Amino acid sequence: MQVSRSVFDDVMVPNYAPSKIIPVKGEGSRVWDQNGTEFIDFAGGIAVNCLGHCHPALVTALKTQADKLWHLSNVMTNEPALLLAKALVDATFAEKVYFANSGAEANEAALKLARRYAKDKYGEQKNQIIAFKQGFHGRTFFTVTVGGQSAYSDGFGPKPAAIVHGEFNNLDSVKALINADTCAVMVEPVQGEGGVMPATAEFIKGVRELCDANNALLIFDEVQTGVGRTGELYAYMGYGVTPDILTTAKALGGGFPIGAMLTTTDIAKHLVVGTHGSTYGGNPLACAVALAAVNTVNTPAVLSGVKAKAQLFQDGLKKINDKYHVFSEVRSAGLLIGAVLNSDYAGKARDFMLAAADQGLMALVAGTSVVRFAPSLIIPDADITEGLARFEQAVAHVVKG
Ligand SMILES: *Cc1c(COP(=O)(O)O)cnc(C)c1O
Repeated sequence: MQVSRSVFDDVMVPNYAPSKIIPVKGEGSRVWDQNGTEFIDFAGGIAVNCLGHCHPALVTALKTQADKLWHLSNVMTNEPALLLAKALVDATFAEKVYFANSGAEANEAALKLARRYAKDKYGEQKNQIIAFKQGFHGRTFFTVTVGGQSAYSDGFGPKPAAIVHGEFNNLDSVKALINADTCAVMVEPVQGEGGVMPATAEFIKGVRELCDANNALLIFDEVQTGVGRTGELYAYMGYGVTPDILTTAKALGGGFPIGAMLTTTDIAKHLVVGTHGSTYGGNPLACAVALAAVNTVNTPAVLSGVKAKAQLFQDGLKKINDKYHVFSEVRSAGLLIGAVLNSDYAGKARDFMLAAADQGLMALVAGTSVVRFAPSLIIPDADITEGLARFEQAVAHVVKG
């Protein structure tokens, strides 16, 4: 059966506004649509396709597991889940792992664990969660309420309680909120959806100290920054500050849905049998692919490549800006890049994204005034050059009006 974009409007819930383009095939950092039109992918499926499209190691892992075992549920464990958990424990601060299917679910687990830990250890009153304005933690009702954009959580009835928001990169705002009843602070080391805003080292260190002084857990939401995006396996490693709980998803599966919550044995022991769970969490197919993704990304070649490729983006975007004067700054953490539109173009990020698509380049926005790129961590340098040339054409079109 032939399907076209108009079918979306006929049969899909209208919560998304997808592009007219329907991609049908991808290889590395190139994608082709139904008409055979080719695109260079600077979007990476929103920081998910860390190894591009159809990376051979991931295809092999998926096909091999597909011939063996797809699903069991958590009534029994399985080999890929145990191997992936071991790999994550070996590579990070964590001693224990919980598997989920998405970033929001990993965060939901982290928040429930923090509440349960505080209740067991200090009593019911220790339940306050501090998060940050412009933060994003997913769309379940708990996680979207912890996120710092009330526009996303308003209009669904009474919200989960005891959640407050400080100002990102403003330690005094955390000092003003934190107290003996705070059970956790949840923060993204780099705010992704909020506009590609890296936390300063002083802020991250200061929040860690405030958590310690108030017996509050520090939760890093590394759903967007994790698995090599910043040039470290996890962004916390670059800050030299260790969280108590870390969540990871997006790039973890390289395109296959999976999320995970990482923590220590001492904290994990509060999630006793029956307190939390998921039918699909730890699914063998997802874990087999994620293991291949983690093993491929967590190598000096890929991680140092991220830093080198990030420099190519910085240099190329500077050249474009010298010519067209559209950005006030380009913020980045490795290959999470945010080109911030200046006051002349404020609110027009979507125009740049659509113009880029017309030139054969897939880009993203973060809010209304930041053009965001989150390409494959192994995007060939030639694709960066070609993609930036297409982006320059798009910028020229927007500037001309
Ligand atoms: C994308 C994202 C989430 C939500 O992940 P889903 O898989 O969409 O549920 C949570 N936190 C951060 C920082 C994200 O970027």
